Amino acid sequence: MISEKISSKQVSDAKRMLSKAQSVAILTHMSPDGDALGSSLAMCHYLRTLGKEPVAVISPNRFPEFLNWLPGTEDILIYENSEQECNTIIASADLIICLDFNEEKRIGKVENALTGSPAKKLMIDHHLNPAAFPDLVISYPDSPSTAELVFRLICSMGDFNKISLPIAECIYTGMMTDTGNFSFNSNHIDTYNIIAELVGIGVDKDRIYNLVFNTYSADRMRLMGYCLYKKMKIYPEQHTALITLDRHELFRFNFTSGDAEGLVNLPLQIKDVYYSVFMREDKEKIKISFRSQGDRPVNEYASHYFNGGGHKNAAGGDNYETIEKAVKLFESTFKDYFNK
Ligand code: 5GP
Ligand code: MN
Repeated sequence: MISEKISSKQVSDAKRMLSKAQSVAILTHMSPDGDALGSSLAMCHYLRTLGKEPVAVISPNRFPEFLNWLPGTEDILIYENSEQECNTIIASADLIICLDFNEEKRIGKVENALTGSPAKKLMIDHHLNPAAFPDLVISYPDSPSTAELVFRLICSMGDFNKISLPIAECIYTGMMTDTGNFSFNSNHIDTYNIIAELVGIGVDKDRIYNLVFNTYSADRMRLMGYCLYKKMKIYPEQHTALITLDRHELFRFNFTSGDAEGLVNLPLQIKDVYYSVFMREDKEKIKISFRSQGDRPVNEYASHYFNGGGHKNAAGGDNYETIEKAVKLFESTFKDYFNK
């Protein structure tokens, strides 16, 4: 038995929005992860089942190779690569569905197209503080993943029987990746009842685990070894670890998108390390990830010092100076925040 989470008003409003729309654009956040792509593709397949046409999934930039196998990725439009085509689709859509992000800033350059479009807007998300721009916001920050919310919404609209194997695989992937294969944010019984339904539809969860987590390149494994052996700094009193990688180091290990995935989690395997920070030099900024365990929020710190935000135990942000300056800022500020 899965409890009702999405309010009946939200369900009926969403149902009405979907029934009125014919052309739909689905948007998700920059550097999309398994939940961003899983929830977007699940929604896309579902809408096509309902006869909506055209339905487009637009990602601001490239997605990591370990998600290439998800059903429907071949149709995803990358905004960076086809700006004009994406702008036209967004401007002429009846409905825009925003999945797995809470504010315009999270979709980078797609923001202008989104805010300028006359389309109705529906947001389904699990980050704190959703923005006010959508006509309907279905936001549940206590939901472990957006994919889980997509499953719930489809079921609450009475369409469980429309969940095909591709939809189920996309939903499962979002649920699995946003909980670190059910190792955090994953204590609610509903999550496992939903998994049971998905497995019943035919999801091979062992296969999906292998497709997502066991497909690293040798370079990526060596980069991981390098991070742990040469680059990990521990601050024992604050129970905190920091890893940084500059662009020369990334080049040395033939870095490609997705290679940094999971590196920030590694130091949390050390006894008495409860906070982990990872900084990586990107094209025009330093990208920073924060992770923590238990009741030790990192999102507030990310927002205060690094223009970011996110969840209590997994947040991100950026810095537009140098790695050295970002480290300095971190070292001069984190002790007051990371003090448990
Ligand atoms: P990651 O470290 O995997 O890039 O991000 C972890 C989480 O932090 C994401 O799920 C996302 O919610 C949040 N996050 C990452 N970068 C940003 C950012 O720049 N701004 C905000 N508000 N949240 C972010
Ligand atoms: Mn998510």
